[in-house]
Amino acid sequence: MQYKVVQKQAEHLCLQCGEAIYGRPDKKFCNDHCRSEWHNHRGRQSLKMLKMRYMHALEKNRSILLSCLERGLRSVSVEELAFLGFRFDCVSSHFQINGHNEYGCLDIRYRKTAAKVCRIEQVPVML
Ligand SMILES: [Zn+2]
Repeated sequence: MQYKVVQKQAEHLCLQCGEAIYGRPDKKFCNDHCRSEWHNHRGRQSLKMLKMRYMHALEKNRSILLSCLERGLRSVSVEELAFLGFRFDCVSSHFQINGHNEYGCLDIRYRKTAAKVCRIEQVPVML
């Protein structure tokens, strides 16, 4: 009888090191060290992924705005930018100047109203 119980519990493996876990069947880690290692690693991974996705979206936004400038456009409809894949939630800066919303995607700045993006310009960035 005791043997059966141990067999069943040993079916659970530590998510971090893969060792068999004895004890409560809902335990996921063999000890606190494995638990914290696993959570630390996941935390770093997800922050790294988040940064990569954010930078990718920001760079895409910048290249869309830059292509507008290269075509001689300093004003584009919000609809067209959205169609090109512009992410309005991914900007590197946002200022309210004299009641206008001014945004930046790295070194490209623009002013945005409900219907259009205008005054697109490339500016020197100082960090
Ligand atoms: Zn472990």
